[in-house]
Amino acid sequence: MLEDAVDRASTRPTGTHRLPPPPSALRGRIVVAAVAVGAFAAAGAGQTLQALGSGPEAPADEVTPLANAAADGAAAFGVGGTGPASPQVLPVAKTVDPAAEAQKLTKSARITEDREAAEAEAKRPKYARPANGDFTSGFGGRWGEMHYGIDIAGPIGTPILSAADGVVIEAGQASGFGLWVKVEHPDGTVTVYGHVDTYSVRKGQVVQAGEQIARMGNRGFSTGPHLHFEVWNPAGKKINPLDWLNSRGITV
Ligand SMILES: [Zn+2]
Repeated sequence: MLEDAVDRASTRPTGTHRLPPPPSALRGRIVVAAVAVGAFAAAGAGQTLQALGSGPEAPADEVTPLANAAADGAAAFGVGGTGPASPQVLPVAKTVDPAAEAQKLTKSARITEDREAAEAEAKRPKYARPANGDFTSGFGGRWGEMHYGIDIAGPIGTPILSAADGVVIEAGQASGFGLWVKVEHPDGTVTVYGHVDTYSVRKGQVVQAGEQIARMGNRGFSTGPHLHFEVWNPAGKKINPLDWLNSRGITV
């Protein structure tokens, strides 16, 4: 098949004398081109399977040498043929348009990425238990005073997580709480994390549900390492965090 292509690949009229057959070096180039075609097909299949794994530019890089090699081959044999013009070599370059193929692969990879990102976003938990530990105190009257949050006790350093998506509106000193973090959520609800030992977010930072924002501590008026967790509704009223969490599928 290669020999046929070599003999008939001419688009020029026969010259006054016939040139010798192409040197083996040129034959080698045709073989390289053919191998490259196979490589492209393999690369294309591989790219489809691992659309997410490799960069969208990868196929273009692999394809470019093929186009050059095929063009070289066609040009090299255009001078020596005797038979009628044959498109047997050229169609390779025509049917495999590297730019178009790369574009198609890039587009399909992008669609796959977008879809998977949307699926991951849909699956991602939208609420989280703010800390692991023992529920030691609820919302309501306690020792003759109102306790406006719930307490979850654990070792100092226990991760404290944002209970929902939101934006950090405070991270720092707070009277009574030592250090606290406050996160405002899209509906205007604010969650408060008090007595923290350290915090790892700054004001204005966007956080997701379950993202670590601080570590449990014993600062401020505290009788042992615990998280004091409050929920302020959009009107600014402190509501029972347990009800708020439970109605969002989170148990404490
Ligand atoms: Zn408390």
